[in-house]
Amino acid sequence: MATTLISGGTIISAVGRRAGDVLIDGESVAAILAPGQAAAIGVNADRTIDATGKYVVPGGVDVHTHMQMPFGGTEASDTFETGTRAAAWGGVTTIVDFAVQNTGEDVQDRLAAWHEKAAGECAIDYGFHQIIGGVDEASLQAMTSLVDNEGVTSFKMFMAYPGVLYSDDGQILRAMQNAAESGAMIMMHAENGIAIDVLVAQSLARGDTDPRFHSLTRPAELESEATHRAIQLAKVAGNVPLYIVHMSASEALEEVAAAQHAGLNVFAETCPQYLYLTLEDQLAQPGFEGAKWVCSTPLRTKHEHHQSDLWKGLRMNELAVVSTDHCPFCMKDQKELGIGNFAAIPNGIGGVEHRMELIYQGVVAGEITLERWVETCSTSPARMFGLDNKGVIAPGADADILVWDPTAKTRIGINDKHHMNMDYSAYEGFEIDGKVDTVISRGAIIVEQDSYVGSKGHGKYVKRGLSNYLH
Ligand SMILES: [Zn+2]
Repeated sequence: MATTLISGGTIISAVGRRAGDVLIDGESVAAILAPGQAAAIGVNADRTIDATGKYVVPGGVDVHTHMQMPFGGTEASDTFETGTRAAAWGGVTTIVDFAVQNTGEDVQDRLAAWHEKAAGECAIDYGFHQIIGGVDEASLQAMTSLVDNEGVTSFKMFMAYPGVLYSDDGQILRAMQNAAESGAMIMMHAENGIAIDVLVAQSLARGDTDPRFHSLTRPAELESEATHRAIQLAKVAGNVPLYIVHMSASEALEEVAAAQHAGLNVFAETCPQYLYLTLEDQLAQPGFEGAKWVCSTPLRTKHEHHQSDLWKGLRMNELAVVSTDHCPFCMKDQKELGIGNFAAIPNGIGGVEHRMELIYQGVVAGEITLERWVETCSTSPARMFGLDNKGVIAPGADADILVWDPTAKTRIGINDKHHMNMDYSAYEGFEIDGKVDTVISRGAIIVEQDSYVGSKGHGKYVKRGLSNYLH
């Protein structure tokens, strides 16, 4: 087995930083060595990566992506091949994507279909959550089987999108009761979709059809109301672990913080778009431009304090994880489906490549520490979703490592750094005071010297255990 020594860097974990070398043997971390120790004990690695002046951190773990997901009459534009390659470019070494089951479909069949899309295509390792869009006896039984046999230990449900992926409160309760039995995590898209549909219909009837009305018809109150309701249902279901996805509103964060204070097993994530992009500056751009930033939950107004509250939530661990909800659509032929009707714009933003960069910029700006960057982008997502060998640099763990250069710079943009399969960048012109230097996936270098040197099919399916937070 080939050995690699990452030498001379500063190793950052969720709990601290120290100078040291990382010795990789084959696909795993073999040892962390004090400075000078490698020479003293005669380590003779096959390959040495000079990390002098650089940070050595666990590879990014993005637990919320949608590669080639069908939505709104089209399909997310990144395939597992293009999307995981872009992720690698961004220092991400594991994604957890979503297999989708709709009403009447067989859960196991749908999971198999997603395995077929991903197998042999991925640049980095991947797992699956299962979306349950239709709760019935068969899908409930399948949930238990997925936990026991398939390494799928989390199930996403929707309080939004009536008639599509929506579940009513009774269906949600039943699925939660099932998860409470098996130990699985329930992930929730918490927006009151029934009320939103009324506001959308009224908006369109008034002729308010521009992209910005996407946000104005999804007010923060309907995110916080659904968050509150999900938390209460989870409590009734036996304090089942509940993870609120893509949180965007201060009011919803308050619900999560209150539940955590009360001792409930409630967790939440946010995404870079909610930390950096707003209704006024992006979604409300003239004409149809704003379609680029139509996603749900929506971008919020900058005249309230959502962004600063979300950063605070990240500092306080009210928000445990940053994911991307990577769900890219091109403007041409995809977002354009909604010209003249914002409700027909496919919902989603591409960002899998830029999460490590954008959240690192939060370190530069003083919002969070380097350790918290590692914790929210690598360690906690791995622990939250039972990726036992990911998210840390420790002997025995998978050698998934990002070497980060804090002295170089990154400019994000369609003609700058951009490897996702989409015809625009949601973060055009953003400047990052740091740069992905080298990316290692299970011991194999996949990005170095501004080149992708990985290979399609290197990435393997990872069976996940139960959430480490509760077991
Ligand atoms: Zn999503």
